[in-house]
Amino acid sequence: MQTQLKIFADIGELLTLAGVAKKDARHVREEDLSILPDAVMLCRDGRLIWVGTRREFDASDILKRLDPRGAAERISLGGATVLPGFVECHTHTVFAGDRAEEFEWRQQGKSYQEIAAAGGGILSTVRATRQASFDELKSVAQRRTDVFVRQGVTTLETKSGYGLDLEGELKCLRVARALTGPRVVSTYLGAHAKAPEFDDLTAYLNFMIHDVLPRVAREKLADRVDIYIEKGFFDTDMARVYLNAARALGLPFTAHVEQFSDSGGAALALELGARSLDHAVFMSETAIDRAAGSATTVVLLPASDFYLKMRYPPARALIDRGARVALSTDFNPGTSPTQSLGFVGVLARIEMKMSLSEVIAAYTVGAAGALGLATETGSLEMGKLCDFVALDGSWRELFYTVGAPSIKSVYKSGEALPMN
Ligand SMILES: [Zn+2]
Repeated sequence: MQTQLKIFADIGELLTLAGVAKKDARHVREEDLSILPDAVMLCRDGRLIWVGTRREFDASDILKRLDPRGAAERISLGGATVLPGFVECHTHTVFAGDRAEEFEWRQQGKSYQEIAAAGGGILSTVRATRQASFDELKSVAQRRTDVFVRQGVTTLETKSGYGLDLEGELKCLRVARALTGPRVVSTYLGAHAKAPEFDDLTAYLNFMIHDVLPRVAREKLADRVDIYIEKGFFDTDMARVYLNAARALGLPFTAHVEQFSDSGGAALALELGARSLDHAVFMSETAIDRAAGSATTVVLLPASDFYLKMRYPPARALIDRGARVALSTDFNPGTSPTQSLGFVGVLARIEMKMSLSEVIAAYTVGAAGALGLATETGSLEMGKLCDFVALDGSWRELFYTVGAPSIKSVYKSGEALPMN
């Protein structure tokens, strides 16, 4: 195979985030963004093989050595600010229908039970998703994926969980595998809610463990497994059995925990060595301390807290004690119907008192860590994938306005992604 060498030149400012990666995205300071003026990146077959200033580049003989015949492609970024591509590490992108009506009902003060009785709630999305054909589902999910790309997302996690039965879940996971654009991490979330055809959660859990998980693993339809741990949903005893079953099949896992109450999900996720624990709104002091000393990333999802008029997770305590945190939209039709990274970042800054550097780190190195991809993406360093975003203005304007982000171009593994 012929190797492909690319020179990305004319970078006004390059935020490599090498300092953030070195600190494992903990205790991030502005200097950890590792900003280089007038920079150059060399990319071979999708990976960075050299990163530095133009002065260093001109003084080195690297290009002569690697490209004696001058065959490398030179791409000018026109003085743009460049930073690592964003990693969206918690979304529910594959679903059919919407819950716009339910949103109005909630504002009118209707209860969860009244909404469910009127045909709303998660089961309405399950009905619509089951009814949709593969092509219909793929087409809506692809449109949403393109919305993420236009905001600079180069790695996108998406969960199943609106099919619940075997056929529906396999369809959702196959759609995730068929999406184009960003690198997609597919997560099996059958344990999102009880499938309506089962009498109780235990029966449904056994079905997933015996009938679905082995098939998902065998057909390599998911990269990891997730479970919703909460009062009235799956409890920690069920989650322990389930996550151990996933582990036995070699699948990494994550969990939705402590969104509405402290139900012990965070402690379990930490004990079992989950890649991440997500939501964490009602995380206990003990769990915060344990998370800080662990390799598990805490994924903060402030947009869903905003939509639900909840309190926000203890981001400052987590960060100050040394936890690695990530941010994500939690995009889903019910509790967080937004795909805006800008909105999430603004909420993180206003409501969770995170600094801009902390937000950028959480959306790159931190989120890559949550997906087990910290050695691959999240910072722009030698050996890592050439995933980056070129901005129109300064990086200081990121996560400041809510709305159109000033993204000029987006590259995944050194290839420009179409801004559909
Ligand atoms: Zn979620």
